[in-house]
Amino acid sequence: MDIKEILSNVCGTQVLNEHLIEVKYSDKFNKFNANIKYYKANKHIVFHLSRKWEGVSDEIKAGLLQSLAVKLFRRSNFLITTDTVNIQLYNLFMKNLSAVAERKESDDILIAIYKELNERYFQGLMDMPNLVLGSNTFRKLGCYEYATDTVTISSVLQNAPKELIASVVYHELLHKKHKFNVKNGKSFHHTPEFKKDETLFENYQQVENQLKKYLSTKKRRFSWFHF
Ligand SMILES: [Zn+2]
Repeated sequence: MDIKEILSNVCGTQVLNEHLIEVKYSDKFNKFNANIKYYKANKHIVFHLSRKWEGVSDEIKAGLLQSLAVKLFRRSNFLITTDTVNIQLYNLFMKNLSAVAERKESDDILIAIYKELNERYFQGLMDMPNLVLGSNTFRKLGCYEYATDTVTISSVLQNAPKELIASVVYHELLHKKHKFNVKNGKSFHHTPEFKKDETLFENYQQVENQLKKYLSTKKRRFSWFHF
């Protein structure tokens, strides 16, 4: 893999000629994580890739490197394009990782909620992702990770009314359904189609309000205990 050749599809020659560019593999990352660091002072660009990338085809890896360069230079005049065949391949690869992800031990309550939601809103067509309880955080009630096909629900909701948990699980399942759109090197997760689907949840607005109320009460208690 010639890094300069790969990047010449997205960056102008000036940036390629004037910088020292390196690709490093690291054990510090898990899964398919990667990042890019730019040391402006000594004109050094380093791509850090998880070891998992070593086994991936060069075409897809080229797309990853180009995507990272696009992210770094999005607002500069170093870029010549933000979309290449390799970037498209890379995005496809990331979206499809969920289909081959490892299975974990899922939470029984979340499994039951998923089953009901699947029948009701997805015509039974939604494959079951990994469903796990995460840490006790108010900041992020749920998340869906494509690479591991995992819905994680905050333990803050553990004893919440089922309907409230279901509304958060539903939101995360919509991420699995809609995946994401990439435009100009930026990923869009909450697209208009996503938001439209979100409002199909029964009594959507009402449940949203209940959820807010539940959290603010819980938060108050939470901070009392932590004094
Ligand atoms: Zn979301």
